[in-house]
Amino acid sequence: MTDIPRTCDGCSACCHIYAFDDPPITKLQFETCSKLTECGLCSIYPERPATCVGFECGWLQSLLPEAYPPKDVGFVMSAQHFPSGLDIITLIETRPGAFAEETFEPLISAFVRAVTCPVLLNRWRGIPGTSTSKFLIGFAIEPEQYRLFREHCEEMGYTWRTQIPENPPVDPGNTSSPSYSALPHDVDDENLAFYLMPSPHS
Ligand code: SF4
Ligand code: SF4
Repeated sequence: MTDIPRTCDGCSACCHIYAFDDPPITKLQFETCSKLTECGLCSIYPERPATCVGFECGWLQSLLPEAYPPKDVGFVMSAQHFPSGLDIITLIETRPGAFAEETFEPLISAFVRAVTCPVLLNRWRGIPGTSTSKFLIGFAIEPEQYRLFREHCEEMGYTWRTQIPENPPVDPGNTSSPSYSALPHDVDDENLAFYLMPSPHS
C-alpha cells in the first residue's frame, strides 16, 4: 500500500511558535505571525520568506507516526543537523502546558528512549519570547552523538542544572550506570538543563 503524502492542510502551528528574522517577517518565539489570517492561512503565501518555504516539520517529513499531527498533539517536532555531525531533535509546545498533559509524558518518554541523538524540549511560558528549554538524553543515544553534544554545549556556553557526565547514560539496570532523574515538569528557570531518562522498567 502506498503512503498518502502528508500536507499542512488545516495546520499553521509553525507560524505561531518560531522566532523569525527573515524580512518582512520579524517576530519572537511564540508570537503569532502578523501575516497569518484568522482562518489560519498565510496572507502573503506566494511571497512568503524563504524560511517559510523551506520549512517542513518532522511530522510532515514522516518522522513521527501519522496519528501525531502538530495541530492535534500540542507540539511541533523538527530535526536539526549541525556541520559537526550532531543531530538535535526539537519538540516545541504549541500551547502552554502541553508537555505537562497526562497523555504527553508516556509519548515523550518513549520517543526520547528510542532516538539516538539529544532531544530539546521547548516549553511555552505563555508570553511571546519567553520559554523554558531542557535537553533529554535517552539510553539509545549513540556515543558519537553524545560526544558531539558535549562539545556543542561547551561551545554554546550553556549552564546546566546538573553536571553532564563524561560518558553516555547507561540503563540503570546496568550496575555501572550513573545517577539519573525522572522527567520533571516543574523546571522554572531559563537555563538549559540536562536530564537523563529513567529506565522503562523503573
Ligand atoms: S507544523 Fe508542520 S504540518 Fe503544521 S503547518 Fe508547519 S510544517 Fe505544516
Ligand atoms: S509568513 Fe506566512 S507562512 Fe510564514 S510564518 Fe507568517 S503566516 Fe506562516
